[in-house]
Amino acid sequence: MPTKPKSPYLPFGDQQTAPWYGKNILSVKQFNRADLEYIFSVAHEMRVMVERIGTFDLLKGKILANLFYEPSTRTFASFMAAMQRLGGAVIPISEVRYSSVAKGESLPDTVRTLAAYADVIVLRHPEVGAAALAAQFAGKPVINAGDGVGEHPTQALLDVFTVKEELGRLDNLTVTMLGDLKYGRTVHSLARLLTRFDNIKLNYVSPELLRMPREVMEEVAEKGIPQKEYTVLDEVLPVTDVLYVTRVQRERFDNLEEYEKVKDAYVITPKTLEKAKQKMIVMHPLPRVNEIDMEVDKDPRAAYFRQMEYGLYVRMALLAMVLGKA
Ligand code: ASP
Repeated sequence: MPTKPKSPYLPFGDQQTAPWYGKNILSVKQFNRADLEYIFSVAHEMRVMVERIGTFDLLKGKILANLFYEPSTRTFASFMAAMQRLGGAVIPISEVRYSSVAKGESLPDTVRTLAAYADVIVLRHPEVGAAALAAQFAGKPVINAGDGVGEHPTQALLDVFTVKEELGRLDNLTVTMLGDLKYGRTVHSLARLLTRFDNIKLNYVSPELLRMPREVMEEVAEKGIPQKEYTVLDEVLPVTDVLYVTRVQRERFDNLEEYEKVKDAYVITPKTLEKAKQKMIVMHPLPRVNEIDMEVDKDPRAAYFRQMEYGLYVRMALLAMVLGKA
């Protein structure tokens, strides 16, 4: 229940009729195919603008509160860069132990505070549902930058945008997700988002302990997408268009002995890729630990560093959209 109603007075110059104005971005479940095409067209424009002129004043005068309760490099930095490339300003809070959170302040109160100073809030939090909770109290758009093992919608959007920019299509794809499919929130969001496209086949390769959660598989099955589970990669690699590698999420294990058993379950090397198609891509949300050998970086199919750059353009698009400028 919102405790602070949205102000009826719009900041001067905001396009209140823009379809995403004032909206939260909490889960990939909220996007249909047309929404995705729209986001990707704006993201593509952002890419062209950054390549041509670097920084421009679309969000001049706007403020982003970047509130991170969990470690992050790319998501934190790319949201900051996105806001700054659009001419806006950022309140960065990544060391919550130095904020009033350390004094026991609740998430709703912290969010209410930041909403008083900023126009949009980006939140990363260890608990599933934290962004949705924050959105009830903010009265300003909240963007979920990862809620525990739940979702990471902006990552999934940038992942799909990467596939589009790299392979030139989003239909007729075999996508193989590898590694920690249990705790990896990026694959939970990505599997859901891929159901919006035609003729998608999903393969999940993981140790028994780290299988894709049943509820995600059930949602995907409801959309009629074929899914198969494996414990070894060999069989599916030759037919794979997108190999999405994930790190084993050490911080989510209660029992570190179990982590030790599965931490090096898969390592992609140049030799592994000999069996892959010539026109395919290897993705990874990063950070990588050991699961992709650094020798693979030289292979043109290694798309993971380009992928993180696409994240900048997608996050610029999302900020512009929720602030009524796209
Ligand atoms: N950076 C991604 C995330 O925040 C992936 C990872 O941490 O492994 O979920």
